[in-house]
Amino acid sequence: MARRARRGHQCYLEGQDELHLRQLTLVRDLQEAVTQDQLTLVYQPQLDARTGRLSGVEALMRWHHPSLGFIPPDEFIALAEHSGHIHRLTRWMLNKVCAQLHVWDRQGCSLVAAVNLSAKDVTDIDLPARLRACLAEYGMGPERLRLEVTESAIMQDPEHASRQLEELRRAGLRIAVDDFGTGYSSLAQLKRLPVQELKIDKSFILKLEESADDEIIVRSTIELGHNLGLAIVAEGVETTAARALLERLGCDTLQGYLISRPLAAEHIVDWATHHQA
Ligand code: C2E
Ligand code: CA
Ligand code: CA
Ligand code: CA
Repeated sequence: MARRARRGHQCYLEGQDELHLRQLTLVRDLQEAVTQDQLTLVYQPQLDARTGRLSGVEALMRWHHPSLGFIPPDEFIALAEHSGHIHRLTRWMLNKVCAQLHVWDRQGCSLVAAVNLSAKDVTDIDLPARLRACLAEYGMGPERLRLEVTESAIMQDPEHASRQLEELRRAGLRIAVDDFGTGYSSLAQLKRLPVQELKIDKSFILKLEESADDEIIVRSTIELGHNLGLAIVAEGVETTAARALLERLGCDTLQGYLISRPLAAEHIVDWATHHQA
């Protein structure tokens, strides 16, 4: 009699169980992901908006799970953070990026790489030493890395995060606030943060040419950022109209599918030579 209702309920539970099982499997397998070479990095070109030249790349992690296939980073990074695996992943990523920069150097292509840090990384007291060691191993200066940290990561523990970011900044690393506009940091907090760049979240950029509101938000963010001495990066640039508008508004750096999808490391030099006018 109450069958239908029960079935509905069961479905819900089954859905929950499935999700839970997937998460447990992923957390279990994260350990091996690093040691068994299941992780890779792809690199998305970033352009200098004024010259149209390649100014850097953002390193983005990919996980090809042996049975579950491609796992989106938004999914496994969150799981890695909650399960304590994130430090291992970040260590692997930083090493890989520095090694790759070194390879590109030898191919005559000297680039700056933006790397993503999670909330746990930002407050990890070993991070500055690890970054120094990584750069030193490949004989590279701190200006070769840009650290991208989200507003929400900083705001989880603002005091600790600010102190740590200050130390990194003094060591010569560039720091960008990622996904800017999606968090709740006040202007006062922003002014106190030791950052050099704001990366406007792609949710404001994707429909920029259709939305008067987004245009106002982007225009004021660029103005505000510039007045505070910060460089502005736009991500999610998908159309020529959005690109033209961002150029007109004085945005400093452009990143998005219009310019390029994230690429395998071996395609970056080729891409750069074909896109340098
Ligand atoms: P994010 O740092 O905001 O990275 C930008 C995301 O936007 C990337 O997704 C990128 O592929 C995507 N994207 C770039 N251009 C466009 C565009 O024109 N249109 C649209 N719709 N999307 C665009 P991805 O690679 O799936 O990464 C998702 C998130 O996973 C990243 O967001 C970042 O938060 C996290 N992530 C990726 N790699 C790492 C990593 O090595 N460490 C940490 N902690 N997080 C990472
Ligand atoms: Ca990022
Ligand atoms: Ca972002
Ligand atoms: Ca994001």
